[in-house]
Amino acid sequence: MVLIFVENVGGGFKKASLEALSYGAAVAKMLGTQATALALGTTTTEKLTELGGYGVSKIICAADAALDSFDAQAHAQAIAQVAQNIGATLVVVANTYTGKSVAPRVAVRLNAALAPDAIALPNIEGDKMRVQRTVFSNKGFAEISLNTPIKVIAVSPNSYPPTQTENTATIETMSLNNLTFGTKSIAKNIATGKIPLTEAEIVVSGGRGLKAPENWHLIEDLATVLGAATACSKPVSDLNWRPHSEHVGQTGITIKPNLYIATGISGAIQHLAGVSGSKVIVAINTDKDAPFFKIADYGIIGDAFEVLPQLTRAITHYKIQNQ
Ligand code: FAD
Repeated sequence: MVLIFVENVGGGFKKASLEALSYGAAVAKMLGTQATALALGTTTTEKLTELGGYGVSKIICAADAALDSFDAQAHAQAIAQVAQNIGATLVVVANTYTGKSVAPRVAVRLNAALAPDAIALPNIEGDKMRVQRTVFSNKGFAEISLNTPIKVIAVSPNSYPPTQTENTATIETMSLNNLTFGTKSIAKNIATGKIPLTEAEIVVSGGRGLKAPENWHLIEDLATVLGAATACSKPVSDLNWRPHSEHVGQTGITIKPNLYIATGISGAIQHLAGVSGSKVIVAINTDKDAPFFKIADYGIIGDAFEVLPQLTRAITHYKIQNQ
């Protein structure tokens, strides 16, 4: 049995979790077994039913309101408890902030080997699994072998597509006992109306080349027509031009969108550490020798103040013509 933990955010489920679901269902198929999803905290039957469309045969929901707020200890305990109850030999989570914090704890509780940052389906070799993962802030790949009877895999967001299937799943509610909560959530301030950076398929990012915060409408306008999230380099957030939540790189967030558009960003190694896993990179820079051009798939040597409005206009025009 394969158990996939899906992250409940205000009753809904993250795209990264749907990817993990599809990944887990595909591995279950390779193993000739079933896949079960585990949702913790309050949600609706409708939302749980939707999970059934991603290849799992059963959905277990522990709708304890205490689990509405994330607590790494309690969540790991809950996942391990359910894994043991159903006899899971593989636990799959998304390699998000939540996944990164629960996966090692679950692995310890189950005495399991862990593959974090997984980017492809495993090769199954008898009782072992060989998993490809990224290392050194996405600068390299490694293959690791999971040799324990129970295994944990944390799947990198945007590495495996969420695949909808025709099947439906049964829903089972479960109560979990004796969970230990190490922390208590006192207040929450959740950003609304924005595409979360780590979930975004397209990211438009700006650096010091944008000159001033009042010029950010150029980044936002392009992001809006592309349905993209916005990001920035470290100096930009240090200068308070943009919130720190948008800072990507070695000391910021690591992202792997399908398309990363870097505007007025030099391409310092510390910035690239957080974005080099992007599938397609476009760099816009006035300096033809900017380091970003060395790793970009497409480069535009030009002034952001001219290129960005032209791109926004061209994409808007294309969308209108193709409606
Ligand atoms: P700049 O280096 O000032 O580059 C601006 C670029 O804009 C230039 O290439 C310029 O040619 C171009 N430009 C100027 N005008 C225009 C225009 N009109 N149109 C188009 N292009 C234009 N940085 C991060 O981003 N993320 C991190 O996580 C991070 N962590 C760090 C950790 C450590 C320990 C250290 C030492 C540094 C870290 N940095 C990080 C900083 C990093 O080294 C760079 O200084 C930073 O990325 C540079 O930001 P920038 O490219 O926006 O600015």
